[in-house]
Amino acid sequence: MSEGLTQAAYIVAALFFILSLAGLSKQESARTGNYFGIAGMTIALIATIFGPEAQGITWIIVAMVIGGSIGIYYAKRVEMTEMPELVAILHSFVGLAAVLVGYNSFIEPPAMGLANPADLHAEHVIHMVEVFLGVFIGAVTFTGSIVAFGKLRGVISSSALNIPHKHKWNLAAIVISTILMIYFVKVDGSMFALIVMTLIALVFGYHLVASIGGADMPVVVSMLNSYSGWAAAAAGFMLANDLLIVTGALVGSSGAILSYIMCKAMNRSFVSVIAGGFGNDVSASSSDEEQGEHQEASAEEVAEMLKDARSVVITPGYGMAVAQAQYPVHEITDRLRQQGVEVRFGIHPVAGRLPGHMNVLLAEAKVPYDIVLEMDEINDDFPQTDVVLVIGANDTVNPAAMEDPNSPIAGMPVLEVWNAKHVIVFKRSMNTGYAGVQNPLFFKENSQMLFGDAKESCNKILEHL
Ligand code: NDP
Repeated sequence: MSEGLTQAAYIVAALFFILSLAGLSKQESARTGNYFGIAGMTIALIATIFGPEAQGITWIIVAMVIGGSIGIYYAKRVEMTEMPELVAILHSFVGLAAVLVGYNSFIEPPAMGLANPADLHAEHVIHMVEVFLGVFIGAVTFTGSIVAFGKLRGVISSSALNIPHKHKWNLAAIVISTILMIYFVKVDGSMFALIVMTLIALVFGYHLVASIGGADMPVVVSMLNSYSGWAAAAAGFMLANDLLIVTGALVGSSGAILSYIMCKAMNRSFVSVIAGGFGNDVSASSSDEEQGEHQEASAEEVAEMLKDARSVVITPGYGMAVAQAQYPVHEITDRLRQQGVEVRFGIHPVAGRLPGHMNVLLAEAKVPYDIVLEMDEINDDFPQTDVVLVIGANDTVNPAAMEDPNSPIAGMPVLEVWNAKHVIVFKRSMNTGYAGVQNPLFFKENSQMLFGDAKESCNKILEHL
């Protein structure tokens, strides 16, 4: 494939990626968005593998077959509840790739076809800076994503790591890395400086994510998504591959925009979250203390309550994903709507373990989009709602966020379900949610607990409806 044809293919692929992002921004067009992404990536791969720069095509194909088979195997096996972990570990691969490309590009720099020695020198300096920054961003993304994976899987504690003077350590890591970069460029490539910086960046990435507490994890996941994009863009600069630069920048900026939206939704400062949990040093929440008695309801009682209701709101959370309760939830919705009850869904922006997690599950069960509302659209309607079904949600319906300034989730906007006439909470025990804080909602007078697996509870309700 000629250079011109490869560049043309790259432009077409870049356009497909932009169309893909546009499609993914709405549920209705998300599937088409995915197809655009697949088309763009296919064109990009063909143009790169058969382009003028590629060598050792057999090796590339062997690597792709091995990598692709592992990818297909895991994609088929992964449960919806494990999706966030998968995304986190995939981000770590992008980070590792950027580190490896950086070292490779340093050991064997690309030929620069510039005749003028001054231009050649300038180009060389730029290349050195690219290598240094690429390795830095890649290493931070690598360890940061591994910690995020561990926290989402539950093998690392979800509470914030609070080492003394943590912000000073972070600042020191950045300052020392900058000095090392100047040294690296000045002495024309010191492998020692590169290795020391890599070690610092690996520890920095670990610390950055480890010091972010449970409820702020959604921002971290999208932030790491953004970092992985910038790591890919850095690799694109090192390899002088325009498409990789464009794609990396698209992922980097869309990840940053998503993080910003999530921060706004959670009433957190963007800078404080990316700087590693500024202002997170809250004392133990007073809502952990004994809250009083809770009341229980049976599936039959809930079914009766639903039959008498005029308006019902369902607020799903992570537990719905665990129980795979979206199908019986949809059936309950259908039955009630046939009987003239108004049923709507209220979705918190960080419900579940992935941005849009609940929307994906409800779409999978074919719940109509027009009754699925965002938190801001439904919050004012709770006082006029007869019954709220809280299905496996906990942190996202916790009044402590509004009432207890010492709570680790203080200030986070939540679904104000307690303003409804009756609240039924579907869960298996009195255990806390992801942020590890007790929920005063369970002890309110108008709340009743329906204990058991959410799917089983929904099926029992269906029997009585
Ligand atoms: P939570 O994680 O706060 O709570 C889920 C609840 O579901 C638990 O209390 C659990 O209680 C219950 N549950 C679990 N399995 C079942 C089951 N089979 N049947 C019934 N109930 C079940 O959920 P939310 O969705 O309200 O909040 C999401 C949390 O995750 C927030 O803190 C958010 O910040 C965080 N997060 C979100 C991410 C995102 O991008 N959306 C990413 C990372 C973290 P029990 O064990 O008693 O059954």
